[in-house]
Amino acid sequence: MSELIYLDNAATTPVSDEVFDAMLPWLRDHYGNPSSHYSIGYDSKQAIDTARAQVAAALHCLPAEVYFTGCGTESDNWAIKGAALRMADKGKKHLITSAFEHHAVLHTMKALEKLGFEVTCLPVSRAGLVDPADVEAAIRPDTALVSIMAANNEIGTIQPIAEIGAICRKKGVWLHTDAVQAAGNIPLDVQAMQVDMLSLSAHKFNGPKGCGALYIRRGVLPVNFMEGGGQENRRRAGTENIAGIVGLGRALEIAVRDMDKRAAHEKQLRDYVVERVLRNIPGTHLNGDAEKRLPGNANISFPGLEGETILLDLDMHGICASTGSACNSDSLDPSHVLLSIGLAHEEAHGTMRFSFGPQNTMEEAERLCDVLEEVIPRRRAMSPVWNTLKK
Ligand SMILES: *Cc1c(COP(=O)(O)O)cnc(C)c1O
Repeated sequence: MSELIYLDNAATTPVSDEVFDAMLPWLRDHYGNPSSHYSIGYDSKQAIDTARAQVAAALHCLPAEVYFTGCGTESDNWAIKGAALRMADKGKKHLITSAFEHHAVLHTMKALEKLGFEVTCLPVSRAGLVDPADVEAAIRPDTALVSIMAANNEIGTIQPIAEIGAICRKKGVWLHTDAVQAAGNIPLDVQAMQVDMLSLSAHKFNGPKGCGALYIRRGVLPVNFMEGGGQENRRRAGTENIAGIVGLGRALEIAVRDMDKRAAHEKQLRDYVVERVLRNIPGTHLNGDAEKRLPGNANISFPGLEGETILLDLDMHGICASTGSACNSDSLDPSHVLLSIGLAHEEAHGTMRFSFGPQNTMEEAERLCDVLEEVIPRRRAMSPVWNTLKK
């Protein structure tokens, strides 16, 4: 039995047995190039077509509207750079996004700013929500694209994408959503949401790392990101990661099949931890709306302490969690997401994200609380910041 308690499912997830079994033959036995015209090539092509149909069923779109990519980051880059470059030809060089997007979006926007695009970065409320009225007010005649995430990766808040989609459709502006955290966790229907492009990534829903997808609505034409051969209907070149694509399709199919059961399970663990921590550890609070959030996400501030300290203490007890975004964990800057919802720097520094997955158990949630109830008061007793706060 493993001692490890993995509570960082928003950073990445383990590949499930069902997904692994589906992938294995495509790593070893079936090696044909899907572009080749003989039987083992056709087999590979068939496997990709099956995965494409699985993704299309999950998103409520046509298989021809699904494009496989190398990761969620690539999907975001393609959607945003591709739309910006396409629209620049028409004199549209204004982009809209929000302050708490993933760096795959924010840094892409920054790169486009350097190329002469103008970016409006919308504020986020204390509850961690983008206001559709702000989107509407920001749209201009020269707006090329709106990109707002479906669910935030740090605080788990679910954005009103359908309302934003209705506004963008009415104004004739393309809407992209980074649904990398949302996919597999909450229902996604690209037609109901009225999005033009949607990014997802297999490793966030018990699929393999290094495989993403981008939904591109029929008739929407972002400029190609990867040029080369004719793969992916001539829009994303490069010999396909067949095992990865098979894993992505199967993992998403399973996630949708088990969604209600999984969500109920993760929510039960999440709510137990939040309730017990807030009750037993003074000064703690939950970040992000309590209702409009991913079922497995708990983001809790522990004033008076550094998240890094808590992280190391938890690691010594075999518990994996996060101080915020995994991409930020090498940097000492406070998370841009926590600052965007109005947390002070010190508060942001003392914040932890616990993200639950289908494989976690109630015993693990209890163990986390036991450890926190021991570690936090002990560290706080040594913390000058906490001793000042207490007064
Ligand atoms: C993880 C994540 C990404 C990046 O996806 P990769 O497949 O790791 O490149 C982008 N956006 C959000 C919201 C994420 O959580």
